[in-house]
Amino acid sequence: MAKEKKGVRLEHISKIYQDPKTKKDFYAVHDANIDIQPGEFVTLLGPSGCGKTTILRMIAGFESPDEGQIYLGGEPINDLTPNKRDTAMVFQSYALLPHYNIFDNVAYGLKIRKVPQDEIKKKVVNILGLVGLEGMEDRMTNQLSGGQQQRVALARALVLEPGVLLFDEPLSNLDAKLRVDMRTEIRRIQQEAGITAIYVTHDQSEAMAISDRIIVMKKGVVDQIGDPHTIYYHPVDEFVADFIGESNFLRGKLEKKEGSDGVARIEGHDVEVSGVDHLSVGDDIVLVLRPESAKLADEGVLKCKVTLSRFMGNYQNYQVMVGDTLVKIQDFNPKNHKIYNVGDEAYVSFTADDAHAL
Ligand code: ATP
Repeated sequence: MAKEKKGVRLEHISKIYQDPKTKKDFYAVHDANIDIQPGEFVTLLGPSGCGKTTILRMIAGFESPDEGQIYLGGEPINDLTPNKRDTAMVFQSYALLPHYNIFDNVAYGLKIRKVPQDEIKKKVVNILGLVGLEGMEDRMTNQLSGGQQQRVALARALVLEPGVLLFDEPLSNLDAKLRVDMRTEIRRIQQEAGITAIYVTHDQSEAMAISDRIIVMKKGVVDQIGDPHTIYYHPVDEFVADFIGESNFLRGKLEKKEGSDGVARIEGHDVEVSGVDHLSVGDDIVLVLRPESAKLADEGVLKCKVTLSRFMGNYQNYQVMVGDTLVKIQDFNPKNHKIYNVGDEAYVSFTADDAHAL
């Protein structure tokens, strides 16, 4: 569908704004280095105000960077106006023309570009098929559901055959169930169209479900870039571990080390650890343990006392105290497992591979 898939590269990109209250300048984005491959689906993820939208708007050309250079398909684009860039944006608000039908909304950008009428017709019909709106050309956009309006917005961007498609929280206005359906659709359409996509969201499950790679941002800084598996199981710091899914943080000191394996002292227990190449004996260590990677058992690694035990259907939800540390455990498919009750003494059980050492 796209004329040519294009990569996007940000080199040392910064954006400075002035805080309207204090009148002080601050970095909304600081020294971002990002390399997006042609055809890749990359998500900018992070809490509100971390600079995701600012990065997207700089790629689109609605904002210009104060430092650094942006490349699209290898060409520097800082000096190009938005309409000269080979990008198209899908907005949260859809931004459809209310008194036009679907056909005219989708055809609008092509008409402005003076594409011949018969070619417009062919392209619009083709794209409406791709987004699942075939035969609906004559419907007015104010007679459509939220999901259908979002499909029109997507068709309107895709029909321009941009090298890169930009999404600014496109599903925020939809209810939870439709969000899940639409994100699957967006991924399907992106793959069928074979287009590079950059997607902004603060919803971590959306990012996990849709992306080839996720860029996690924290206060204007790119904190980690990786595929969903790496981000989940090998977070670079506590911020990423906490922002993506749930985490337990087990704190202690590294006592022994042999290659990348070792033993840590945590809450009075010796715990086998792996992946500690970056640490030395005597260093502080934080183990990131996902609640579903830990088990509750009669024997195990860390002695504990159960403080919460709740049946959730698909899992038994526990909270236990290991010394002064609260540990959350999710025991999935608990039907035939031993159930521990509040006040029981037990052990938190996990292997060295289950815990990621920071
Ligand atoms: P959200 O998820 O809430 O949209 P975001 O991660 O997309 O957040 P940005 O919109 O990129 O965040 O904003 C980054 C920071 O820059 C925020 O502190 C925001 O208040 C500030 N900011 C954004 N636009 C401007 C502007 N035009 N002038 C001054 N400050 C701005």
